Amino acid sequence: MDEAGQPVLKVRNLRTGFATPAGTVVAVDDVSFDIRRGEILAIIGESGSGKTVTALSLIKLITTPPGKYLGGSIELAGADTLKLDEAAMEGVRGGTIGMIFQNPRASLDPSFTVEFQLVETMMRHDSALDRSAALDIATRSLQEVGFPDTARVLASYPHQLSGGMCQRVGLAMVLACSPKLLIADEPTTALDVGVQAKILLLLKKRNRESGLPIIIITHDIGVVRAIATRVLVMYGGHIQEEGEVDELLSAPLHPYTQALIRSIPDPDAPAGTMTFIRGEPPNLLAPPRGCRFAPRCERATAICHAQVPEWRSAGGGRMVRCHLAVPEAVQ
Ligand code: SF4
Repeated sequence: MDEAGQPVLKVRNLRTGFATPAGTVVAVDDVSFDIRRGEILAIIGESGSGKTVTALSLIKLITTPPGKYLGGSIELAGADTLKLDEAAMEGVRGGTIGMIFQNPRASLDPSFTVEFQLVETMMRHDSALDRSAALDIATRSLQEVGFPDTARVLASYPHQLSGGMCQRVGLAMVLACSPKLLIADEPTTALDVGVQAKILLLLKKRNRESGLPIIIITHDIGVVRAIATRVLVMYGGHIQEEGEVDELLSAPLHPYTQALIRSIPDPDAPAGTMTFIRGEPPNLLAPPRGCRFAPRCERATAICHAQVPEWRSAGGGRMVRCHLAVPEAVQ
């Protein structure tokens, strides 16, 4: 059992890259963070910021070329998962760490019924479980994610279910295995608004009732506001800012976070006033020499183009990677 207050997961100086004919693209660069029981940690950023590669790295899915781990550690239950072999990782995936993917059908096999997939998955992760006990848990788990007619869902093949139903079945399968950590990669992006709200409520309910720590990867600030307790902002493979959700969203310190929040569409704003972040994300084959956001940053000065900013405390539990963002009081 985890000791109260101790991190369930500790990531330190993680570097993950992809070999290309032109060199190695370092998609996740020197990333460190913890997550504790009861927390919902959102990792946000534009496409290409490194957030999904971070999530896949945590369950060691970047194992075949061109992907490779370049350094760092991922400590889960006292063991560095980067040092575990594939057989051990199969036990971790779906057992200790549950994962929900953006594509609701990605975690389901089209050739088997929901009952077969739920029961087999549970029995694979718990050898003490017999078929009838596994079916009981599967049924309760489907009820927990809001299916009143569990017999019909259990007898269905994935193609007989809508995308939203598949996502709820995937969530039921993950929760039935009682993970110590849940990672959800854009779990609501492909779903309509009503189903989105239902999935977010389910995640929040499980987190509140059992303390299940959740890492949610999203580009949607609305999802962050609805569910997260803490936020990491990624850009160019680096974490740029970290803080409790209310403080970070109401008073962002990093110019990139500020620009992200300013670019949330406002349906009531007059036509032509929508803002966006000018320029393009950096080429990670040859990132900018100093701050990775400098070519797009309105506040950039000479030092920003020359030196990578350090990751440092801004006080009050806030961390930021910017030469100019730390309030004078904590410098
Ligand atoms: Fe902008 Fe400079 Fe801060 Fe980078 S370090 S975000 S360029 S002000």
